[in-house]
Amino acid sequence: MKKRILTGDNTTGRLHLGHYVGSLENRVKLQHDYETFILLADMHSLAYPKYIGEPGTVADSVIQVTIDNLAVGLDPKISTIFAESTVPEIYELATIFSMLVSHNRALRNPTIKEEIREKSLGDNYSLGYIFFPILQAADILCVKADLVPVGEDQLPHIEQTNEIVRRFNQLYKGEVLKETKGLVGRIKRLVGTDGNVKMTKSLGNCIYLSDSEADVEKKVMNMYTDPKRIHPTDKGTVENNPVFIYLDAFGKEKDRFQIEDFKIRYREGKVGDVEVKKYLIKVLNDFLAPIRKRHKEFEANPGKVKKILEEGTKKARGEAIKTLTAVKNAINMNYFEG
Ligand code: ATP
Ligand code: MG
Repeated sequence: MKKRILTGDNTTGRLHLGHYVGSLENRVKLQHDYETFILLADMHSLAYPKYIGEPGTVADSVIQVTIDNLAVGLDPKISTIFAESTVPEIYELATIFSMLVSHNRALRNPTIKEEIREKSLGDNYSLGYIFFPILQAADILCVKADLVPVGEDQLPHIEQTNEIVRRFNQLYKGEVLKETKGLVGRIKRLVGTDGNVKMTKSLGNCIYLSDSEADVEKKVMNMYTDPKRIHPTDKGTVENNPVFIYLDAFGKEKDRFQIEDFKIRYREGKVGDVEVKKYLIKVLNDFLAPIRKRHKEFEANPGKVKKILEEGTKKARGEAIKTLTAVKNAINMNYFEG
C-alpha cells in the first residue's frame, strides 16, 4: 500500500511563490509516490478575526486555491482535493483531541505566538485560533498521513500532532493513531518583496501564482533590494537580498550563468538594480507562464472544479469515517454496536 500525504492551505486568498517553494512543489513531485490528499482549510481560515467577518472571501478562495493547486500540476485523477468544512468527522476528532492538550500547551505553540505578533492580533483572537493546531492535527490524522509537506512555520503544529498521537495511544493502549512527519520545501521560508522574512498575504508582500505579467513587472520594480546601496556604482550585498533570493529560487538551469555574473557585478558596483530586476521579471514570467495558462483553463470551467471537490470530499470522508470509528471504539463510544 502506498504511504499517504496530507497537506493544505488556508483559503484566505490566492497562493503565492512562498506557497510554491514551501509546499506546492513537493506535493506535485510526490503525488506519484504517495496517495495524496490536499485539504482546503476553510474552517481554519475563520480563526483569523478578519475572515470570520468575511465568509464570502473564504468561500471564493476555496475555488481559487483549488485552481492554484491544479494549475501548478496537482492531478485530480491521482490526488484528492477537498474542503475541510465538507468532512465533519474532522471536527469530531478535533473535539476529542482537544481533551488531550493542556490549555498551557496550546498557548505555548511558537507559531501561534508568532502569528499573534505578526498579524497584530493583540488580545483579539478567538478560542478557535488557539484551537488551530488541534484542528490541524485532526486534518492530518483523519487520513492517517505519513508525510506533511509544509513551510517551516508549520513544524510546531506537526510536533503538537505527534504529541496528541502519543498521548492517545498511551491512554487507550493501542496503535489507533500513528505519528507523522513534516517535509519542508527547498526554501524553508521565502522572503517577501518588502524584505520581510516571510512572503505572506497579510503583509501584502506577495507575488501570486496567478499574477499577470504586468503585476509581476510592477511588483518587482518596487521590490526591496540592498537598502545601503544608493547608486549603481556602490558595492552591493547579494546575501539576504530578495531579488537574488528569487533569482536563485526561480531561475532555470539556462539562467545560472547570467545570475552568477550579476552577483559578481553587483558586489563590485558594476550593475544597477534596474538591470537585475528586469532580468528577474523575465525569469518569474517564464516560470509563471505555464501555470497562468492552466489557471485560465480551469477558471473557464468552474463546473469541473466543483466536481473535483465533490469527488474529493467523498474519498476523504470515507477515510475520515474509518478513523473516527476506530478512535471512538478506542474510547468506548460505540453504544449501538455489538
Ligand atoms: P499567508 O500568511 O500569506 O496567509 P499562510 O502562511 O497563511 O500564508 P498557509 O495557508 O498557512 O498560508 O500556508 C500554506 C503552506 O504554505 C504552509 O505549509 C506554509 O508553511 C507554506 N508557506 C506559506 N508562506 C510561505 C513562505 N513565505 N515560504 C515558505 N512556505 C510558506
Ligand atoms: Mg499560515
